[in-house]
Amino acid sequence: MIDFRLTETDEAHLARTFAEGEIIRRYAREVDENEAEMPPNVLPEADEFYANAPALPEVGPEDTQGPVMMLLQIMAGNWGDYSVRLRRNTSGGLGNAALSAAGTDEQKEKWGGLLLSMAITEPGCGSDPSRVSTTAVLDEETNEWVLNGEKIFVTTGIRADGVVMWATIDKSAGRAGIKSFLVEKGTPGFEVPHKEKKLGIRADDTAAYVFSDCRIPRENLLGLDETIPKASSGGFRGVMKTFNMTRPATAAMGLGCAWAAIDLTREALEEAGVVLDYTTGPGGLGRLSAAAEKFMRLEALFEASKLATLQCGWMAGKGLPNNMESSVCKAHAGGAVRQITQGCIEILGSIGASRELLLEKWMRDSRITDIYEGTGEIQRLIIARGLLDYTRQDLK
Ligand SMILES: Cc1cc2nc3c(=O)[nH]c(=O)nc-3n(C[C@H](O)[C@H](O)[C@H](O)COP(=O)(O)OP(=O)(O)OC[C@H]3O[C@@H](n4cnc5c(N)ncnc54)[C@H](O)[C@@H]3O)c2cc1C
Repeated sequence: MIDFRLTETDEAHLARTFAEGEIIRRYAREVDENEAEMPPNVLPEADEFYANAPALPEVGPEDTQGPVMMLLQIMAGNWGDYSVRLRRNTSGGLGNAALSAAGTDEQKEKWGGLLLSMAITEPGCGSDPSRVSTTAVLDEETNEWVLNGEKIFVTTGIRADGVVMWATIDKSAGRAGIKSFLVEKGTPGFEVPHKEKKLGIRADDTAAYVFSDCRIPRENLLGLDETIPKASSGGFRGVMKTFNMTRPATAAMGLGCAWAAIDLTREALEEAGVVLDYTTGPGGLGRLSAAAEKFMRLEALFEASKLATLQCGWMAGKGLPNNMESSVCKAHAGGAVRQITQGCIEILGSIGASRELLLEKWMRDSRITDIYEGTGEIQRLIIARGLLDYTRQDLK
């Protein structure tokens, strides 16, 4: 049975993350307004905070563990800020997830300590990654891959020590010809021309990459499998496997912003004397003020999205396939966080839209969660295929 009630130990661990968030928020606006600069990996208060923080109770078998707790912690972390951290994890990029999922033991040993970004998107290829046009050609004489192409919107693209990038080794093979390669920064022919300028998550260093006759050792092919599988053998699906827990994680990031918006708005409504009466019962909504009713509907939307997201983590923890549910929670959360953050701005009026508060920033920051790791439209395609048993060819 699914039960997401938290234990005291769970609450203590989450409270620590929310306490970090209170400090992080002091920097959130400044970092947002100075996009060209890189926020520090460690904020000045970090050492003092951790030195004085009460010891956390040990986690036992009755406590929430694994993916569910991870998702709750992501929400709590993003409640503070989407991308500023008290102490930034410098080895957990999207490329690291791909390395863990598909790398050989030697590759994990060699590259595991580095921060790795993940570069799939190109100027002509986003939602349909099978259209990757960056090429990797094997030079048999030197035992090197020669990479040529351009990647855009690479998260942690500036900070990363290296990248897991997708390139085709045989364009005529279509999606089956696409492989992942490990490339270290500083390799000749690998350039980082610019940091992207964005609507939100401006503390994130999102970069463009260019590969021009960039030579890498043959053993940098992730997983070392040079064969081109037949289209029906699921080889491409193997590459896509890394997305299965990242979709709920992305949903959780947006939900952290929505959670922050809900908390701030509830506080403002209570200060203004608006009564939030949850006991009015069926038909009782009419006795609430318009602001209270609107707010309670946003809260319900938040709870629904949060539960759908936690369910994905629960399934992953149980070893159950969660591919379709991951798309459900991401598509739902992508829309919900927009409605919630915009709805909270509407409830608060002009102050909600001003830069006095972080609310308008949470709206901008959460917008990305309906774009990367697959847009809402693409998630709905995956859900429809899953529900109706259509293939990619039937429904594209
Ligand atoms: C801040 C940021 C960070 C990013 N980080 C990374 C990263 O680290 N690594 C990486 O590789 N990429 C990254 N991306 C790229 C991101 O994954 C793509 O933007 C996303 O996949 C959409 O691709 P696109 O922008 O090319 O849009 P397109 O694919 O051109 O889509 C445009 C619109 O058409 C819709 N659409 C497309 N196909 C269909 C269809 N078949 N049916 C219905 N609607 C459809 C889309 O939903 C979208 O609304 C990042 C993007 C941003 C903005």
